[in-house]
Amino acid sequence: MSAQKSESLSVDVAVVGGSLAGCASAIRFSQMGYRVAVFEKKAVTEHSYKQLCTHFLQPHAVPLLDGLGLAHLREPAWSVVTKAVFVTPGGVVETPGGYDPEQPDSYALNLERRVLDPALREAARRQGVRYLQGTSVESVQEDESGWTLDTRDGTGAQQRYRARLVVAADGRRSRLAGLLGNPTESRPNERVALFAYFTGIEHPEGNRSVFIMNDRDLACTYPLVDGRTELVLFAEKSRVESWRGTEGRLEQFLKYFDDLDQAPSMADAVPESPLLGYTDYPSQIRRPVQGSVPFVGDAALSLDAMSGVGCGFALQSADLLARSFAGRSLDGADRRAGLADYRERFESTILPHADGICGDSLVGKDEATRQRMFTTICRSPELSHKYLALTGRMVQPAEFQQAFLRGLMTQRVGAART
Ligand SMILES: Cc1cc2nc3c(=O)[nH]c(=O)nc-3n(C[C@H](O)[C@H](O)[C@H](O)COP(=O)(O)OP(=O)(O)OC[C@H]3O[C@@H](n4cnc5c(N)ncnc54)[C@H](O)[C@@H]3O)c2cc1C
Repeated sequence: MSAQKSESLSVDVAVVGGSLAGCASAIRFSQMGYRVAVFEKKAVTEHSYKQLCTHFLQPHAVPLLDGLGLAHLREPAWSVVTKAVFVTPGGVVETPGGYDPEQPDSYALNLERRVLDPALREAARRQGVRYLQGTSVESVQEDESGWTLDTRDGTGAQQRYRARLVVAADGRRSRLAGLLGNPTESRPNERVALFAYFTGIEHPEGNRSVFIMNDRDLACTYPLVDGRTELVLFAEKSRVESWRGTEGRLEQFLKYFDDLDQAPSMADAVPESPLLGYTDYPSQIRRPVQGSVPFVGDAALSLDAMSGVGCGFALQSADLLARSFAGRSLDGADRRAGLADYRERFESTILPHADGICGDSLVGKDEATRQRMFTTICRSPELSHKYLALTGRMVQPAEFQQAFLRGLMTQRVGAART
């Protein structure tokens, strides 16, 4: 061991990964009175943020901002309060009406990561969390009195830390999953994602975020602050193969949206960013607890970005973890009970969403069945409401499926009578 390593620094909770899930977990444990350190391998400045994210925060996660000291991010200076509208093969799915500020889970937020990430780090620091940027956790080891973490900073300097609890918030490539033997289940995603930011595109009434199902693609328009718009396309891979060159791709991308009847005009659209995206992004599922380490955010579950759930699930898993340890210590039987509680909460509230989302990642769905499904949904205001609640992760898939079957029967009986 090097001289620098010999003196170990001690905390109660060591959070590995300093993005959404990591900062949210750290804030919540710090609020419980624990000494918390976050280890973030990237060098982070005041303005750093994750660029590869289209930052639609689903309704179920909006109220969680309050407990993190970030309620102000719902104000118009920081984000756009919005609701989803789905243009489907069976009609348009939407819920009429405005937004109820008293009910933050009645709307979604277009909350850009350039705003959220710095605000969350700042909230963590304000809460007394020690944020160690540029510090990668290289190995972890457990003994009878807790954990030893060996870290390395950007200069190569090593440091050893001790902690009573380690939280894995280190994202989809989770090093801790590898070190601790948490297996990764990978599910295929048959679409690419492309997105960019623009000015000069008119916002729809009520600042709705519009999701247009076009063949097997999903084209999304998100109104942002300062009159900007984000356009996002999740497309079958073959669709964009012929889109070549930086300018050519952007031109084809805009033309794609311009050709959609339900999208606003792109005639005055001015790009404010290059085209970003990915070509391959399989969904990944891991255990929420491996040994005595809880996994939160993408480290536990990283799903097709088309579902727009990762940010919300990152905040929600941190919330579930904190609730599981409320009133419990970090040691012995209390810790085991806290971890078992977290596993149970994660598996009953977050995990059930994975199957449907992974199913939607496959493009070869039966179009006639899909059309019938959306026609049934669009004919019923109650089902439309439930569908939006499902995509906003306000209800479990089983609840939607039950409502759907009831709606289908009612419509069939009604049709037989006429
Ligand atoms: C194109 C795209 C669009 C998306 N759009 C949306 C959307 O509209 N809505 C939505 O809700 N979600 C969306 N997501 C998903 C969302 O971005 C992620 O789910 C979310 O960022 C996960 O946060 P996290 O904190 O769990 O992980 P991450 O943000 O991946 O953070 C993990 C952190 O751990 C650090 N780290 C890794 N290893 C170590 C180590 N050994 N030591 C120290 N630090 C380490 C990393 O540097 C990183 O900062 C999108 C994703 C993509 C790719």
